[in-house]
This record gives sequence, C-alpha cells and structure tokens, in this order.
Amino acid sequence: MNRGSWDARIRRANELTSVYPFAAEGLRFYARLATFQKSFHEEIQKALAHAPKISADRPLRDELDLFLLLPNFPRFLSLIQEVAPEPLAQAAAELAEKGPAAWQHAIEDFWYRDPELAAIGEEFETIPTDGSHNLNRLLAWIFLQPYAEHLANSRETATVNGTPSTCPLCGSKPIVAVLRSEGDGAKKSLVCMLCAHEWAFRRIYCPACGEEREPQMAYYLTPEIAHVRVDVCDTCHTYLKSIDLTKMGLAVAVVDELATMPLDLWAREHGYEKLQINLLGT
Ligand SMILES: [Zn+2]
Ligand SMILES: [Zn+2]
Repeated sequence: MNRGSWDARIRRANELTSVYPFAAEGLRFYARLATFQKSFHEEIQKALAHAPKISADRPLRDELDLFLLLPNFPRFLSLIQEVAPEPLAQAAAELAEKGPAAWQHAIEDFWYRDPELAAIGEEFETIPTDGSHNLNRLLAWIFLQPYAEHLANSRETATVNGTPSTCPLCGSKPIVAVLRSEGDGAKKSLVCMLCAHEWAFRRIYCPACGEEREPQMAYYLTPEIAHVRVDVCDTCHTYLKSIDLTKMGLAVAVVDELATMPLDLWAREHGYEKLQINLLGT
C-alpha cells in the first residue's frame, strides 16, 4: 500500500520541497491540506469507530454522513482561505458566505456525480466567473478524501473481477500509477483519486480508452526525475504518471505525482491530456 499514511505524505511533501524547488510552493500548500486531512481523518475514525462494516457489494458512495461532515466544513473553508492560491481561496470565501445549504450542495454535487475535475486546471489560472463551480468541486474533493479513505478502509474486502479502469470501491478515476518489482519485471497498480484505494492493473493498457496495442502505448522519462514516468496513449492522447518504486523506494506516489509538474508541462506540450487533474490543478 503506497498511498502512505498521512504522516508519510506530509513528510514526503516537506522533503521534496528542497529536492524540487520548482514545486516548493505547491508542496507547502499540499502539506497544509494533508495536515488538515490527517486530523479530520482521525476525528472521522473516532466518530465512526462503532459503525458496522459496510458490505463489500455496496458502492462506497452510497454512504454520506452529512451530520458528521457538514459541521467541519466551515473550518476547512477558513483554512483554504488562509493557505490556498488566489482563485481557490476566493472560491472558499464565497462558498463560506453562502451558508450550510450551499455547503451541502457542494458536497453532494461532488459525491454523487462522477467526480471528474477535468476543467480545474484552467480555472486555477484565472479568476472564476461562473460561480466557481469547478473550484467548489475541487474544495469538496479535498474535504471528502479523508472520509472516503475511512470508508474504503472500513469495509469488507471485495473480490475484484479483472482490472477495472476506475476504482472498484468508489468508481472514481485513478490519480497515479505505481510500479513495484515482481520477478523479473514490474507490477503495476492504480491509486484512486478519492478514496486512495490501490488496485492491480495491466501494464500495457490505457485506463482512458482501453487501448492495449503496444505500439500505441509509450512512456517518457527524464534523467532528472528518473523514478517518475509519463505513460501516454497515442490513440486517445491521454497520460497518467507512474511512480516507479523499484527506482525510488522512498517515494509516496500521490506526493511525487504532485511534485513533478515539469512532466505535466512536457506532456501537454506534446498534445497529451491528463487523465485526472490533481489537487494543485495540474
Ligand atoms: Zn476509490
Ligand atoms: Zn487511450
């Protein structure tokens, strides 16, 4: 399990600020978010300690404990106003003013719909004009991750058929892939953007369009960031990063993904679109 404990993620973010100075600002922001998420996760664990285990055949997103979640939303929005870059901080301020009905709407809108956040990258660059819809979804995503992770950890183990391209627990997209050594080769798995569940995946297969012909699937590496590769599909022009733990055992996949934005730049310059935008909007 390489999603890492919250502490491991925070430690890795702090560590990488000096390794990748270009990512320092984003990583410091992420470390503040993860610190909030860690304490929120502990509160959720305490509050739901005696809740019965969720059966494996129920979709994770059938659950939504608004009584537990909503009272914590205002302090989350305050934190974002304090530490986030400008368009997001402003979206948090606007949402904070709207009150509980709007907070509930933002949470439900993200939780019950396909949590796709494709357009966030553009909104991150500009001041939002359309009621910050996508930024509200980004806020809900960050806020709900600890809850989703708790649900993923506290359910019965499910048997998964095949290698699905979306999370077998909650149906969300993968945020990053992980490579580990196995025999002579490497074993690949995907990490869920929402509940952080990790599931086995085929090495040559596009999670966006199902392409499996080898010539269509390539990857790119740069020697400066040798443990992170960009897996691209030349059929649908989508990419996803893979963190190679055989080259860097200390990596924490979700954090190393955030820190390596030059690879995102490279991919976009070459006409590839990211399968799933990350928390920093890249
Ligand atoms: Zn999931
Ligand atoms: Zn594809």
